[in-house]
Amino acid sequence: MRIGHGIDVHRVSHEVTRELWLGMVLIPEARGLVGHSDADAATHALCDALLGAANLGDIGRHFPDTDPEFADAPSRRLLEATLELVRAAGYRVLSADITIIAERPRLADFMPAMCSELSSVVGTVVSVKATTAEGLGSLGHVEGIAATAVVLLEENS
Ligand code: MG
Repeated sequence: MRIGHGIDVHRVSHEVTRELWLGMVLIPEARGLVGHSDADAATHALCDALLGAANLGDIGRHFPDTDPEFADAPSRRLLEATLELVRAAGYRVLSADITIIAERPRLADFMPAMCSELSSVVGTVVSVKATTAEGLGSLGHVEGIAATAVVLLEENS
């Protein structure tokens, strides 16, 4: 078995029309995040954890922000591509756990949808949790949203 850890941070956009996507779910009436893709920090952290557990490098190596193919790419595409790499390397996902750090918006109502969306793509239960930064630092001042993830992989026998 192999454990992997991922972290991702994105700045809050000043563009009022930018959508906020977290855990592959659109969060309505919230400022979006700046990024080359859809800037879904939760799903990106999960991808990095998956790649890390399989010793396959990081999300920037496989899906570089210089690649026009991934401009505004939905995080679902990145997650599916990441899972293909992990499976091709001979692993299956046993468990995954994500924590989103967001001062605003309150995400509690969206947790079940995130869990359901992510679990359906990953093929096992993906836990999603959220916390605030207690008003401290840049995350606490709503300058960005961060996420961390851990996963456990098992090598196919
Ligand atoms: Mg990212």
